Amino acid sequence: MSDSTDTIFSKIIRKEIPADIVYEDDLALAFRDLNPQAPVHILIIPKQPIAKLADAESQDHALMGHLLLTVKRVAEQQGLTNGYRVVINTGEDGGQTVYHMHLHLLGGRSMSWPPG
Ligand code: AMP
Repeated sequence: MSDSTDTIFSKIIRKEIPADIVYEDDLALAFRDLNPQAPVHILIIPKQPIAKLADAESQDHALMGHLLLTVKRVAEQQGLTNGYRVVINTGEDGGQTVYHMHLHLLGGRSMSWPPG
């Protein structure tokens, strides 16, 4: 695949570049962020390369639910019993830099609000 959705995350899915993978199933992959913003910072991505949340369609609704439940599963696996934050940066104003939709799971410290 070489279209605009073939990002660095697609290469991680295909195991062409290394990543610290903490969970994988048929639909989703979770791996540690290269530049962690919290003691636990894991990215949860769909294997299907949806560029951004704004591009998700009604047929993706089961996948979207699966991704959220994967966040919960990984958070439990990581022992985040005191809470955590889930972030989806979307598009330019959302601060998205990799155009393969992903959920950030951040935990292991207290979070402030509002985000920057
Ligand atoms: P966003 O700014 O929401 O698009 O988030 C992209 C995230 O991907 C950033 O937090 C980066 O640190 C992370 N990232 C980029 N390349 C890699 C990589 N090869 N392995 C793990 N995380 C990465």
